[in-house]
Amino acid sequence: MDWILRGLRFECQPDCGKCCTSELREGSVFLEPNDVERLARYLGVAPREFARHYTADEFGELALVMGDDGSCRFLQAGRCGVHEARPLQCRAYPFLPEDGFTPVESPYTWRREKEFCPGVGKGRLYRKEEIAGIMRGRKDVGGFDV
Ligand code: SF4
Ligand code: SF4
Repeated sequence: MDWILRGLRFECQPDCGKCCTSELREGSVFLEPNDVERLARYLGVAPREFARHYTADEFGELALVMGDDGSCRFLQAGRCGVHEARPLQCRAYPFLPEDGFTPVESPYTWRREKEFCPGVGKGRLYRKEEIAGIMRGRKDVGGFDV
């Protein structure tokens, strides 16, 4: 994190959907309890019903069930169909550490992530403090609402 002096730019690009598809999305989309409530509210169903239809246990954690082709079932025409209510794991990308790795680890890892995600290095500028807050899952620094 010491290398981030003037912040980093990131903005998910419209019609990309790359990290939500079977070919390019790595791993699972794990859910926090808040995610289930928020997504259920967004879809107009009870949290229990949402959990029954859209989630499964993966490695002892609650995760989204993927579609038959391995892509996220909320991906619609290249866009997230639940964007406003998407899970913490999705909204905190590319800052939240996953499996002990975060693309903001060094200039090298940030450049590497750019090769995968066209939104890295573009759009909104995130201050170093905001990024640190997102990494801690905090919303009081304006990173996102959990
Ligand atoms: S790869 Fe990047 S730009 Fe594409 S959908 Fe994922 S976060 Fe958005
Ligand atoms: S919830 Fe949205 S952003 Fe997250 S994997 Fe599914 S389609 Fe992509």
